[in-house]
Amino acid sequence: MSDVKKGPFHLTNTLSRKKEEFIPLRPPHVGLYVCGPTVYSDVHLGNVRSFLTFDVLYRWLTHLGYKVRYVRNITDVGHLVDDIDAGEDKIAKRARLEQLEPMEIVQKYTNGFHDVMRLFNLLPPSLEPTATGHLIEQIGMVGRILKNGYAYEVNGSVYFDVPKYAEKFPYGELSGRKIDELITNTRDTEGQEEKRSPLDFAIWKRADERHLMKWPSPWGEGFPGWHLECSAMSTKYLGETFDIHGGGMDLKFPHHECEIAQSVAADGTAPVRYWMHGNMLTVNGRKMAKSEGNGFTPEELLTGDHKLLERGYSAMTVRFFMLQCHYASTLDFSNAALQAAERGSERLMAAIGTLGKLKPGVSDGADIAALEQRCYDALNEDLNTPVMIAELFEGVRIINSVNDGNLPLSAGSITRLKDVFDTMVCEVLGLKNEQASDADDATLDGLVGEFIRMRAEAKARKDFATSDGIRDRLLSLGIVLKDTKDGTTWERA
Ligand code: ZN
Repeated sequence: MSDVKKGPFHLTNTLSRKKEEFIPLRPPHVGLYVCGPTVYSDVHLGNVRSFLTFDVLYRWLTHLGYKVRYVRNITDVGHLVDDIDAGEDKIAKRARLEQLEPMEIVQKYTNGFHDVMRLFNLLPPSLEPTATGHLIEQIGMVGRILKNGYAYEVNGSVYFDVPKYAEKFPYGELSGRKIDELITNTRDTEGQEEKRSPLDFAIWKRADERHLMKWPSPWGEGFPGWHLECSAMSTKYLGETFDIHGGGMDLKFPHHECEIAQSVAADGTAPVRYWMHGNMLTVNGRKMAKSEGNGFTPEELLTGDHKLLERGYSAMTVRFFMLQCHYASTLDFSNAALQAAERGSERLMAAIGTLGKLKPGVSDGADIAALEQRCYDALNEDLNTPVMIAELFEGVRIINSVNDGNLPLSAGSITRLKDVFDTMVCEVLGLKNEQASDADDATLDGLVGEFIRMRAEAKARKDFATSDGIRDRLLSLGIVLKDTKDGTTWERA
């Protein structure tokens, strides 16, 4: 039996735009930082896709034998509605609307985010630091940037001096922007007169009397700028330079560009060796956005309770659907595509079942080692999940042919194929057989509890269409909800 070459892993280096062999800074350790959620609203599907990409990267690197420190932060400082420097604090605004404490809002949406991550079978990161828990580090970083001359203070706010930084360093290199074009294209907006240049951004912002989330600093009471937390926390947990930084494409500019500038200005080093950006979702060919009326939530996708959805789809169908597309390409949602994904993932799961029952032959009609090698090669090529999945379907064809008696396969090859499917489908793609998950009652209980909570919320705001929709969808899945004096319970139909 031939041996499979499990490496090397190749990534596209966004700065040089070249594909190159990935060698971690401190082998076998990999530092991976992913920009986490803002916790003042529900997580949307675009976020789920982005976090899913890095979940599979984390699973893959771990499978290859790296020890990954995967840091994904929680943005729980309320940044301002109008970009970064103006308007109301988003968490305070949500707290006012829902009549809760700001930190209750943070807890509520953090819990909701974790529920959605569990639902789609995303592994928890190694560390999940919060912005509010790292004010000292952020204030320290502002101090270093000021001391090095790349920031200035005005009336208790501190701004990053982009033109001064750009004299020495290539500001815009990550997103391919030119500083002169940025200056011509940026309008000076109202309330920004403290800035010397419209490109400058706040790294510390003075808080007024009414501002709820604020902290003492050498520049007076205030709060950190949006871009600062990721720089401060990635430096603290992964060092001044680390291996991989991920996030959605929309974060490339200005967020990640500003992260680079902050780290270079504070510590004199480029913070990241490889940037990975997940592309966006479209719906029937149009960008997914709330304003377009096509931005459905993960819950709506599962229940089918949205005008663009013919019916609901399971979390594993959605997971499989997303992984059928390379992370750097846009992915289009349509009912037809989701239904095709559903059939595809069912075929994959059925093949795993068949695999356990195959009768071994005396010879090999298929080269399983070559198939396994192609799976490794696909994922080692910039995490090419669609090509790897296509190889798995070649495996499905082999399994079905053996089962039909049209192809011989030796006992050793059957074992090897089983190992490929266990590794690639379950461990790396993170897909679960939903039919078999009945055994996992604790998870099921948690999930149904989440739907009961969502339904109670819908009822409380008199949205009976949603609350009834949740009940009906659960019923169609064999879960019966019972309303009692003490709340809602559930049982299997
Ligand atoms: Zn970030």
